[in-house]
Amino acid sequence: MAHQLLSCYDLHISFTLSDGQVDEAVRGIAFSLDETETLGIVGESGCGKTMTALAVMRLVPLPGKITAGSVFFKENNLLTLSEQQMRTIRGRHISMIFQDPMTSLNPVYTCRSQIKEAIVHHGIARTSDADALIESILHEVGIPDPKRTADSYPHQLSGGMRQRVMIAMALVCNPRLLIADEPTTALDVTVQARILDLLHGLQSKKSMGMILITHNLGIVGDIADKVIVMYAGEVMEYAPVRELFDRPMHPYTVNLLETIPAIAARKERLTVIPGEVPTLRNIPPGCPFHPRCNRSMPRCSTEHPALSTPGTNHQVRCLLYA
Ligand code: SF4
Repeated sequence: MAHQLLSCYDLHISFTLSDGQVDEAVRGIAFSLDETETLGIVGESGCGKTMTALAVMRLVPLPGKITAGSVFFKENNLLTLSEQQMRTIRGRHISMIFQDPMTSLNPVYTCRSQIKEAIVHHGIARTSDADALIESILHEVGIPDPKRTADSYPHQLSGGMRQRVMIAMALVCNPRLLIADEPTTALDVTVQARILDLLHGLQSKKSMGMILITHNLGIVGDIADKVIVMYAGEVMEYAPVRELFDRPMHPYTVNLLETIPAIAARKERLTVIPGEVPTLRNIPPGCPFHPRCNRSMPRCSTEHPALSTPGTNHQVRCLLYA
């Protein structure tokens, strides 16, 4: 029987700016993840996906603050732990990889010394065993010459190789949860597919949980077990992946699915969603998606939809289903 790994309840993240105004970046997010599941979090830039992930790591940047909610990792509410306790969890039990490895890898240290730092910090192996462990994890992430790559500096590697080194660094301590934040966005399309295959394979081989954050709903179709669609800091739809693809309910999800290019369809133009994601300062009243929604009704501009559960395990925030 699968055990719950992570559960997040009613999470709120706010930014108090110098003029005193409080902007809510994430409003009432809730989800759960079993030990070997993959959760996809999807939405356009600025929807609150990365902030949600950073809240799990307790790394929300100032002046941001988690103002309410709880984040249980197994039986521990991470939001009540001390910073010292969190340091023993980050990188050891929960790891995160980011969009651009160049901003996460230190350009003045070799890959070996950066991976070794994680091993030593968490006491994973004796110093004498660390080199063998580093080369073994680099081999595991598909690097053909682990010794030479370990002794390289990040700028000496291609974008795909750097992302593999980041994945190796994230996995060297054998975490139970991997958070991958847009891990392929900065890469060429052909490399993207290989990195996604690698992540999917490693997740199942190591029986770990994974949160995959992406703006591309097409990416989660093959990898995720369930999906959250976020918009303007809120969950718009939350369902098992097949259910979401077969029976999308929220107009935003339907629009996102229509933006996935289908080679067989041979469309002349790609579908786009009109308008822009609102900034935190300009979240519209009522349903935040109403200015862009092609099914908007008069009440949508005044009534804020609650999350309802019209199907088993299928939640949607839309007045069409209220
Ligand atoms: Fe569209 Fe109204 Fe549903 Fe919002 S509540 S998604 S505006 S139909």
